[in-house]
Amino acid sequence: MPSTPDVEDLLRTASLRVTRPRVAVLAAVHEHPHADTDTIIGAVREHLGEVSHQAVYDVLRALTAAGLVRRIQPSGSVARYESRVADNHHHIVCRSCGVIADVDCAVGDTPCLTAADDHGFSIDEAEVVYWGRCPTCSANPSV
Ligand SMILES: [Zn+2]
Ligand SMILES: [Zn+2]
Repeated sequence: MPSTPDVEDLLRTASLRVTRPRVAVLAAVHEHPHADTDTIIGAVREHLGEVSHQAVYDVLRALTAAGLVRRIQPSGSVARYESRVADNHHHIVCRSCGVIADVDCAVGDTPCLTAADDHGFSIDEAEVVYWGRCPTCSANPSV
């Protein structure tokens, strides 16, 4: 988990002005990988006190646009945010409880991006979601 100065450096590197809400939101995303917006708002409020949903949404949108945060949304799930960007890693999602874990690219960085037919597109991301049941849910079939 990066300390606050690191988060400020990340903002500066992305040419974003350092503001307290941005620092708090980016730190919260680092502390809570794959968190949904409500979790992030809760974490931000622990640091900043009262902050509006809209303010957090706006910051998340700015951080996502700047490439500091990656937004993922498995089907049937609300949007989740993570700070692990730019490595094209994949996700595994539990069908039962919705827990999400990171999965490194199955065959390295590039092959996952190499479509059999790219239709002339310049591809920069391939999204793979593995679905299944997590160990906790597998051990408890009634859930
Ligand atoms: Zn589960
Ligand atoms: Zn991830």
